[in-house]
Amino acid sequence: MPGDERQQKILQEAQEFAAAELKPHAAEIDRKGALPKKLIKKMAARKYLSATFPNNYGGLELDPVHYGLFTECIGKACGASRALLTVQTSLVGESILRFGNESQKKKWLLPLAKGKKVGAFALTEPTVGSDAKNVQCQYRKVGDNYIINGRKKWISFGAIADFFVVICSYDGTVSAFIVERSPKEVHTRPIRGLLGGRASHIAEVEFQNAVIPAENLLGPEGSGFSYVVGTALDHGRFSIAWSGVAIAQAALEAMVSYARRREQFGQKIHKFQLIQGILGDAVTKTHAARALCLKAGELRKSQHSEAVHETTIAKYFTSKIANEVASDAVQVHGGEGCADKYPVERLFREAKILEIIEGTSQIQQLIIAKYGLRKYFSVKA
Ligand SMILES: Cc1cc2nc3c(=O)[nH]c(=O)nc-3n(C[C@H](O)[C@H](O)[C@H](O)COP(=O)(O)OP(=O)(O)OC[C@H]3O[C@@H](n4cnc5c(N)ncnc54)[C@H](O)[C@@H]3O)c2cc1C
Repeated sequence: MPGDERQQKILQEAQEFAAAELKPHAAEIDRKGALPKKLIKKMAARKYLSATFPNNYGGLELDPVHYGLFTECIGKACGASRALLTVQTSLVGESILRFGNESQKKKWLLPLAKGKKVGAFALTEPTVGSDAKNVQCQYRKVGDNYIINGRKKWISFGAIADFFVVICSYDGTVSAFIVERSPKEVHTRPIRGLLGGRASHIAEVEFQNAVIPAENLLGPEGSGFSYVVGTALDHGRFSIAWSGVAIAQAALEAMVSYARRREQFGQKIHKFQLIQGILGDAVTKTHAARALCLKAGELRKSQHSEAVHETTIAKYFTSKIANEVASDAVQVHGGEGCADKYPVERLFREAKILEIIEGTSQIQQLIIAKYGLRKYFSVKA
């Protein structure tokens, strides 16, 4: 089957899966605060956790455009399932694909793709967030092993992960390691009471004299920040950009349905021009966000030099408008928008997370401004 047709078929099947297996359970998953392991296995069986991996590592070989559309489809139905894709495929998977050697890929990617092992990406720390280059988690070499000590915070799927890609430092040299969970050396504590990401098994992780075999160093020593983190965040941002489209689209559909049903002052509320103004803005913002994401996807597909910048722009814009559209969807629902009977309350909470993860909106603005200052400078103007 030709490439595009094959990928379209995967998208069609993903839509059916999302409608049958994800959307009906999304509210309950969020309420219970745990994406069920059974569902993780179901998604793995369809190769969804390795959607971009090559076939020989158990993947579906989706190109960036189709992977984006696939992320939208899953994210529209269930935020926690989309978060699973972001972490397994975009953060952990793409890092190992790019920087892992053949034996690391066989050892870690294949079980991840099959859902036999769950991975997590451990960068953020209690005292180090945006300033990620300054990680305090320490490693040192002792004989043939490395020893890691330190704490990580906000690690998605950290509470259930079988292994972690851990970013740590030795005297300012930042490196990445694959660290297997071990009961004595790796301690995880689930974080509760979250605004969003409630079902993403978010945890604090502490490494106490964790002994890591030298073969678990990911990429060359010293490449942890500029290469591994840079690659992971670039892929992560692309995934979050599409998650913004997913939330905006879901919120838009919810507000349209509600506005067509709800009556006040003897007529459906969609007849009021002020409501139409909100709907018109929501349609425009959602279409604009998707167009930016598609552009970033096309550039990534052709490995264009501007792909990273367009991905950052897409992440910044879509996470911003997802918040606006989700907030407007709550507004259109009135009091009902503030309760969990309708999905807009959850979408509103989930949207905020997108402006924080994979680099906050302020960090995206700084990166985009730096790019703009370089690209649009003309000595003649
Ligand atoms: C639900 C959720 C899931 C997460 N999952 C993971 C995960 O799987 N792995 C992981 O490693 N991390 C994860 N994180 C952490 C996330 O990446 C960080 O929260 C994020 O990078 C911001 O860091 P911080 O929270 O320390 O905020 P800080 O860096 O302390 O920022 C606080 C505020 O200051 C602003 N600020 C900081 N520096 C500047 C600057 N130079 N200029 C202007 N403003 C600035 C920020 O924009 C923000 O508004 C997750 C977080 C959440 C909430």
